[in-house]
Amino acid sequence: MTDSIVYNVSVEMIEKYRGRNLIVRSHDPSDLVKKLHEKDLNRLSNVQIHALGVGIDDLSGWEYAVPIDLVVLNPVTDLPLLYQYAPLLANHAIRVSVPVVPGFLNLAKLAISLDFSVKLEVLQPARTLVDEMIQLAHYYLHQSTVSKPIEYFHSMFLAFYHNTPITIWTIQEEDPTRVRYITDQGEEALSKRFTEMGSTPDRVAFIKESIETPAAFLEECGTCEFRANCSGYFKWPRKDYSCTGAKAVFHMLKDAALELRKDLAQLGERGENRS
Ligand code: SF4
Repeated sequence: MTDSIVYNVSVEMIEKYRGRNLIVRSHDPSDLVKKLHEKDLNRLSNVQIHALGVGIDDLSGWEYAVPIDLVVLNPVTDLPLLYQYAPLLANHAIRVSVPVVPGFLNLAKLAISLDFSVKLEVLQPARTLVDEMIQLAHYYLHQSTVSKPIEYFHSMFLAFYHNTPITIWTIQEEDPTRVRYITDQGEEALSKRFTEMGSTPDRVAFIKESIETPAAFLEECGTCEFRANCSGYFKWPRKDYSCTGAKAVFHMLKDAALELRKDLAQLGERGENRS
């Protein structure tokens, strides 16, 4: 089990964590190029760049085809910075992780048009932002030019389609049974969201009370039809957050998945009738 755990660490800590499964983050791409070695690659999921305005000359010449995660801080000011990364697609898969805050919709659409995949970093969005998430989900589901995944929509759509019990914690790379986020101070947090909350719950208690049995912990989860795939994800950090919008997005993805499953079943039946 320990061997399957992925540690998200700053590049400054690479010596300490070398040999583990890693996501390595840095504000300076040249540090990644200098400090990561060929022997690190087998256990490297991706590298995260946390300052998109820094020059990318070193990355352009990087011989290792490591997936790159561009971590957006401010969608409005970071949007024009995405263009410079497009040439790196020749040697790297590129994902853009964007917080669901004002401006995220335009940035996500630009990222998709540049052929990057997208991950929404979603906490507890206000209703206006949920409306934009619904617009983006519609765009992902129905726009034929979208050829790269937008997470968490993509994996949740597949979970509904295949009826698999994957949770949004796993999709968002925040499952505390699989991931450890190591802060810049070297402390272990459940995930980045908990560092932003200022404190991190005890991992064992959190898994038991909040992920395995959220219904016992959070009243609204007890009657929620998406509990199996959500496990209380939208109740952090505020337990009184209303999930009306989050459920609307789940509904949209589920309806689309069931519709596709029905269409494909009908196509199959027609094919059988013809033969
Ligand atoms: S959508 Fe909200 S109510 Fe439903 S399981 Fe998730 S956090 Fe709980």
